[in-house]
Amino acid sequence: MNHSFIYNSLPFKVVFGRPAADVLPEVVQELGYKRVLVLCTPEQRVQAEAFAKVLGAFGVGICDLATMHVPVEKVADAAEQAKLLRADCTLAIGGGSTIGLAKALSLKMALPSIAIPTTYAGSEMTPVWGLTENGRKTTGKDPAVQPKAVIYDPELTLSLPVDMSVTSGINAIAHAVEGLYAKDANPVISLLAEDGIRALAQGLPGIVKNPQDLQARTQCQYGAWLCGMVLGSVGMALHHKLCHTLGGSFNLPHAQMHTALLPHALAYNSTHVPEACARIERALGTQNAAQGLFDLAKNNGAEMALSSFGFSEAQIDEALDIALHNPYWNPRPLEREALHQLLSNACIGARPNA
Ligand code: NAD
Repeated sequence: MNHSFIYNSLPFKVVFGRPAADVLPEVVQELGYKRVLVLCTPEQRVQAEAFAKVLGAFGVGICDLATMHVPVEKVADAAEQAKLLRADCTLAIGGGSTIGLAKALSLKMALPSIAIPTTYAGSEMTPVWGLTENGRKTTGKDPAVQPKAVIYDPELTLSLPVDMSVTSGINAIAHAVEGLYAKDANPVISLLAEDGIRALAQGLPGIVKNPQDLQARTQCQYGAWLCGMVLGSVGMALHHKLCHTLGGSFNLPHAQMHTALLPHALAYNSTHVPEACARIERALGTQNAAQGLFDLAKNNGAEMALSSFGFSEAQIDEALDIALHNPYWNPRPLEREALHQLLSNACIGARPNA
């Protein structure tokens, strides 16, 4: 070890691999909550109803207002419902959008949350919140929005469609990749990042082969947990900045956009982060980190051309104006021409050059 570092540990409970329905009552009682409001998207209402049943007298209702990007209007309606029902906690069952609604309620009305994640996005492991008002997404960090407990039950991910599983898994890997070269990277988080990438890279093909393969689902959710811890612990760089820009200003779908961009963002940075690349290559069992990520996604059926999601070559300059206006720290200086090429490559879904 040849450098000093700061490691911030995140104080909350994680239960992994047990049926959430068995664990939830224990967790609620341990935390002392008595009036739990279940949050979900309209699409996951059935799962939410099952958990409302599990909560019995501790449940006060279901709010199915969760939606992409956490619009402030939905937060206001959910807050009204929570107030009327005198909720003292929320239970977010779903992906980053539902957990995002729970976080917004923590921010707005100091309502704590418990999360049962059903995608691999990783929001449950971070103190980061996001809110969208008049088409503009703002994000911030506040330890108060971090869920008080997280229950990972791989059975609940069996229903996640294969294409969404693959892109959500690569979305998780993106956190680990950028965590490996973060400005505040540290050896503890790098261990989690490398193992998180390995677990997802090994698990995803199993899900593609058989979406009901519980072992592969378990491996992926374990990887997602580790990658989420990376996201919650260290700063992100160019890749996340570009995704934030393209998601926020061009409305591209979150996990799919992460998947198409990641190999190119890593290719851009690769000459400046040889140690991170070596870890990624070891985790993927490949010779070239950026190409290995591209192959992992593509071989598992992911769409790699950003143009398929409605982003065009003609929008690259506008995207760069926004991304470069207030950039994140990045290991390689941000060079406009090279970044233009990066987005152009991602637009057509080209495999990064060696
Ligand atoms: P999502 O939460 O938007 O879910 C996408 C769709 O899949 C929804 O309709 C959802 O109901 C459905 N779904 C989720 N799990 C399912 C399952 N097991 N079976 C069937 N359907 C299921 O998608 P996401 O990618 O998890 O989250 C994306 C959002 O989360 C973005 O807005 C992103 O900015 C945010 N996010 C925030 C953080 C953070 O730290 N704050 C981290 C990662 C992502």
